[in-house]
Amino acid sequence: MDIQFLGTGAGQPSKARNVSSLALKLLDEINEVWLFDCGEGTQNRILETTIRPRKVSKIFITHLHGDHIFGLPGFLSSRAFQANEEQTDLDIYGPQGIKSFVLTSLRVSGSRLPYRIHFHEFDQDSLGKILETDKFTVYAEELDHTIFCVGYRVMQKDLEGTLDAEKLKAAGVPFGPLFGKIKNGQDVVLEDGTEIKAADYISAPRPGKIITILGDTRKTNASVRLAVNADVLVHESTYGKGDEKIARNHGHSTNMQAAQVAAEAGAKRLLLNHISARFLSKDISQLKKDAATVFENVHVVKDLEEVEL
Ligand SMILES: [Zn+2]
Repeated sequence: MDIQFLGTGAGQPSKARNVSSLALKLLDEINEVWLFDCGEGTQNRILETTIRPRKVSKIFITHLHGDHIFGLPGFLSSRAFQANEEQTDLDIYGPQGIKSFVLTSLRVSGSRLPYRIHFHEFDQDSLGKILETDKFTVYAEELDHTIFCVGYRVMQKDLEGTLDAEKLKAAGVPFGPLFGKIKNGQDVVLEDGTEIKAADYISAPRPGKIITILGDTRKTNASVRLAVNADVLVHESTYGKGDEKIARNHGHSTNMQAAQVAAEAGAKRLLLNHISARFLSKDISQLKKDAATVFENVHVVKDLEEVEL
């Protein structure tokens, strides 16, 4: 499982940072890629990665500001142009209005897609658990921005323990149906009377990962709730230390506030994105340094950077 950042800038693109988008690559887990936000030019950024658009099965939108959604019509259209590849359906989750934006863009541009899009729109009253599959559950909660905006908490379900086949063989269990029984947690008795306790041969279940990806927001308790015990928290840092007042006025956060959220939530790791173009590289290292005084395991991400979870 990896996160690859496709756009880490705030508001408008700069040479170094494109507008918002990131890919949660779940290739080993479910052979899918989930996109979070899709600012203009996201498809160009994807060209510089190994991500195949057809593998993008779900897109989660945090809010309807242009720097988070203007890349959708282009990406969705290009996704159709993959000659000889199977056309797979796609799900889009986002605030009410996302469906009308996408369908209007496609209609007025005469774009017809050879695959289906399933829209899952929500508003203030229909948040909470927005998706559950056999491997993942996704929750959304409202943040505090200048328009309706959400953060997502992606929870991988606990991973089943694995069967230690070598140890079973060593214990004299003949390969065959007994293995299946033990794998299902059943204790068995061998012909010679040996009792095999399944629990001794199955490793303990491993806890699934928790990934929290927030949209634009002021510091709010909802961010903390979404990030409780998260393995990774992706938080905006449009502003730096001392800019708390201007951040509040514009509906954003500083690096220090992001760090406070990570600390209060007990998150393991904090990745800062949505970085203003005003910041030069020396400012970026200062952003990190300052945030680290509040939450040590912090990193300011770059476009195309890939982080393993
Ligand atoms: Zn915004």
